[in-house]
Amino acid sequence: MSGRLAPSMTPDTAFFWEGVRDHRLLIQRCTECGTLRHPPRPMCPRCTSLSWEAIEASGRGTVLSFVMPRHPQFPGFDERFIVALVELEEGTRLVSNLVGTTPEEASIGMAVEVRFEHFDNDVVLPQFVPAGGGPGGAAGAAPDPGTGADR
Ligand code: ZN
Repeated sequence: MSGRLAPSMTPDTAFFWEGVRDHRLLIQRCTECGTLRHPPRPMCPRCTSLSWEAIEASGRGTVLSFVMPRHPQFPGFDERFIVALVELEEGTRLVSNLVGTTPEEASIGMAVEVRFEHFDNDVVLPQFVPAGGGPGGAAGAAPDPGTGADR
C-alpha cells in the first residue's frame, strides 16, 4: 500500500500544503524583520510581528541530521525510510523524508533537493532526494553566478 496519512491542515499551515500541491515549497517570511520560519506559525519568534508573506524556496538544501525510525512500522511507509532534518539554502530548516538513497549512502552535509511525491490517496508530500543525482545529470553542473548574494 502506498497511501499516506494526510498532513494536518490548519489556517496557519494551509498555504504550505496548497503550495505543495502546486509543487512549490513555500516558506513563511516575516515582513517586518525578514526572518524565515518553518513550520508555519502566526507570530514571528524574533520580533513578534503577525505580518508575513510566503516565499518560494529553491528546494535545495543540505542534510543536517537524519534518523531511521524502526518501531513502530507506520502504515504507508516503506520498510526502511529516512527522516532527515534539511537546512534549505534560504536558511530555514524542515523535517522531511530522504528518498532515492540508502542509510548507508546518506551523510550529514549531503546536498539534497526537493521532490514532490504523490501518494495514492491524493496526498502530496515534499521529499528530498540527493541533488543532481537524477538521470540526465543536468543539475548541479555549475553554480549560479552572482545570484543570492544580496541582503
Ligand atoms: Zn519578525
